[in-house]
Amino acid sequence: MEYIKNQSVELQIEDLGNDGEGIGKIDGYPFFVKDALPGDVIRAKVMKAKKNMAFARLEEIVSPSENRISPICPYARKCGGCQIMELSYPAQLAYKEKKVKNNLLRIGSVPEELLNTVFEGIIGIECEENSVPIRYRNKAQFPFGKNKEGQTVCGFYAGRTHAIVANTECYLGVEENQEILEIILSFMEKMHIAPYDEEMGEGLIRHALIRKGFQSGELMVCLVINGDKLPGQQVLVDMLQKVPGMQSISISVNKKNTNVIMGDSYQVLWGAPYITDTIGEVSFQISPLSFYQVNPVQTKRLYETALSFAALSGSEVVWDLYCGIGTISLFLAQKAKQVYGVEIVPQAIEDAKKNAQLNGFANASFFVGKAEEVLPEFYEKGTVNGEVVEGLDASAKAPDVIVVDPPRKGCDEACLSTMVSMKPDRIVYVSCDSATLARDVKYLREHGYELERVKACDMFPNSVHVETVCLLSKKP
Ligand code: SAH
Repeated sequence: MEYIKNQSVELQIEDLGNDGEGIGKIDGYPFFVKDALPGDVIRAKVMKAKKNMAFARLEEIVSPSENRISPICPYARKCGGCQIMELSYPAQLAYKEKKVKNNLLRIGSVPEELLNTVFEGIIGIECEENSVPIRYRNKAQFPFGKNKEGQTVCGFYAGRTHAIVANTECYLGVEENQEILEIILSFMEKMHIAPYDEEMGEGLIRHALIRKGFQSGELMVCLVINGDKLPGQQVLVDMLQKVPGMQSISISVNKKNTNVIMGDSYQVLWGAPYITDTIGEVSFQISPLSFYQVNPVQTKRLYETALSFAALSGSEVVWDLYCGIGTISLFLAQKAKQVYGVEIVPQAIEDAKKNAQLNGFANASFFVGKAEEVLPEFYEKGTVNGEVVEGLDASAKAPDVIVVDPPRKGCDEACLSTMVSMKPDRIVYVSCDSATLARDVKYLREHGYELERVKACDMFPNSVHVETVCLLSKKP
């Protein structure tokens, strides 16, 4: 049977796709329906029918799934942020476990028998029945723009678009976000400052980055602007400074017409250039442009998992690739002889060095550069960015453990092949995208390493994203 646009179909939803869409089939032909959940029987309207599959829009829930809950956020369906907020939390965790396992099986070609023995489940967040974890994010990036009526608004992008829906209260973020955003909006009104218009490339205020240290209570605001100056900046500083916990106010200039949110640098308008936060026993200074995990409660569990997989006794030499501000590196430095971190963002490496000092670790060194360039260059020529580094001796060419925590695209093959050449006993792979993780696990299994342990960690409840830690050991 062929389906045509606007046709209405009844579907029994059986599965969830990679982006959280419900999948229901008629005679084997799959329909992908946003906001539909496994167990739902729904009516949906066909939006686009292709040869192998169709996209359809949810019209009516005929009979709801037993795992369907009513969302706390009124924008749950409109917003692009939380794709599965209407799914009960135990079902969210089961979905994420399945996603990781499926990717390792299909993309990673990990034998099912092996996977069943090494997969240790997912670390979730405690929460009450029929509720989902909220207010777990320490970082928010809100876009500014105009609504259809021409008013300046701040909120979120509607799913898969750049249309801004006005909403200053996101349930994933801290309560202070709303107060801060309202201050920025009223400052803009008072000073007649226009928000950025993506299409025209005009207007000044693009985004507000807000971060809070969950342990320290310290707050940071960085406004991303499409211009060199913020007119009336002292007025804004006076207003924001009064928010309890405010520690750092800055601007970052970004005049490029891209999806990248932050500019390349930032200027402090008031306070410190960073906030401080603590994970476990280690304190970190975090500046606006540096990466810092968004869910501090789960981050501690994630890092503890990585540390236990690394199985350090105190005598090991360890590389931490994609190290950001040195968070995992310093966790490892507590138990290792020497740790070397590599990271592409220069400001993050500055933070990492300061963080090592702040915590009194003399056994951690950090290098700016791409992991896939720094590691091969050092392994082949003994230099880093063309220079011989004091203290970085031959022992670093034969590390005991290598930890990697790459962005979504995973590790470059040049990085993986050097890792394999260095013959570490253990590779600990921390990943925010189980598809590229699976691809890289496949490479490592084909090059002398075996998958020993896999544990997922739910860093991003209500979204489809899942973090995974794998231990790979050198085959005898
Ligand atoms: N391990 C850190 C950071 C993980 S996020 C933590 O847990 O906080 C991934 C990091 O990789 C980011 O800091 C990003 O800037 C960095 N990165 C991206 N591409 C890179 C590359 N090719 N080489 C080295 N670092 C890279």
